[in-house]
Amino acid sequence: MTELRPTALPSYGLRPAPSATRPRDERPGVTGLLPDDLAAWFIAHGQPTYRARQVQDAAWRGRQESFDEILTLPGALRPDLDGAFRFDTLTETEVRVTDGGLTEKAVHRLSDGLLVESVLMHYPARADSRERHTLCISSQAGCAVGCPFCATGELGMERDLETAEIVDQVRHAARRLAVDGRRLTNVVYMGMGEPLLNLDRVLESIAALNDPKRLGLGARHIAVSTSGVVPGIRRLTALGPQFTLAVSLHAARNALRDVLVPLNRRWPVEEVVEAAREHAATTGRRVTYEVTMIDGINDTDLDADAMAQLLRGEHAHVNLIPMNQVAHTPWTGTPLPAVERFAARLMASGIATTIRFNRGTEIGAACGQLAAEHAGQVAPLVVQRRRERLVSESAAALRGERSQEPSPVGVGEE
Ligand code: SAH
Ligand code: SF4
Repeated sequence: MTELRPTALPSYGLRPAPSATRPRDERPGVTGLLPDDLAAWFIAHGQPTYRARQVQDAAWRGRQESFDEILTLPGALRPDLDGAFRFDTLTETEVRVTDGGLTEKAVHRLSDGLLVESVLMHYPARADSRERHTLCISSQAGCAVGCPFCATGELGMERDLETAEIVDQVRHAARRLAVDGRRLTNVVYMGMGEPLLNLDRVLESIAALNDPKRLGLGARHIAVSTSGVVPGIRRLTALGPQFTLAVSLHAARNALRDVLVPLNRRWPVEEVVEAAREHAATTGRRVTYEVTMIDGINDTDLDADAMAQLLRGEHAHVNLIPMNQVAHTPWTGTPLPAVERFAARLMASGIATTIRFNRGTEIGAACGQLAAEHAGQVAPLVVQRRRERLVSESAAALRGERSQEPSPVGVGEE
């Protein structure tokens, strides 16, 4: 069994800006630029193209925090660079360490005041594996999909992250590790947001992480998780193997998945699994299915059997993760014996299955939890209504009745 999900940490000092309509810094972040575009800027300013390399080296391998500190650049050029680009798109970052130093949760402020988070998890070396440092990053501020067990989903959608805002989360962690002579080994897009609904920016950010002149992280060390955006999965399949694809399955029965992953009303589970199957067949890369296990909701024998039926003959791997407690839901995570029973039923049907623990137990929460903490308190009456609605929707789903609600607004419009 492996550990992946971190716990939330005590609340932070950072608070989001009062309004998401605050003006944004329009200058592109330098880490999100294509190397050729940065080189073109230097050519246009009568400079040799190796200057672009100097900037990149300072960003990825140096300790500089502004263009002004890159002393290899001509002094007169530095203010021009600063007028055109941002050296760092994360204006403020607060890091908290927990789990005896094994988990570092960072909250980042963006130029318009919104907050996103990233989580760095350290895995010490074992007899059969080397030391690993995995970073979980955000691709959007908030999320439009609105899964009811997810703290980010409860926030609603704010906006897509820019390429550099995604890349800079990684750069911050890589720099923190470099101080102790350590290197980032894995990046997972499992923080806030639905990566396949911001796919252009996510692909650009992955190209930056892959680039040997920047982070140089191999595609096998990058995983992207989706709640089931079928056109996005198909687009990735056409591109060929880019990274490991994880699909958040949660339920094999449509009525229940409609409630747990509202996007299911747009792309039902059979279509999602079909797209994932094609992806695995075309790219030769096994797809991982994630199941967040909720006590008495999606963890019954009936659910295990429906899942086994759906994934039969699939080159797949299922990860079972007990739900972290999130405010505003009436649910709790499935206790371990029931998770083990579910895993055993899947394995008896020939489906590779592992159980993942949430890191730490003192304050249970998934990626996205802090964002909700920062967003402030929701009125008790609103919380109560939301809980009541979830209880009645999930009860109807367990009777097999499909939701009449539309799919999340603006999601999946082609
Ligand atoms: N939007 C994408 C990626 C970000 S969420 C997706 O849904 O796949 C990453 C993972 O965290 C998903 O598998 C999601 O189901 C899981 N997750 C969200 N809230 C959780 C919680 N309260 N407990 C456990 N896992 C959770
Ligand atoms: Fe969005 Fe993923 Fe959270 Fe669902 S689980 S609301 S898709 S971030």
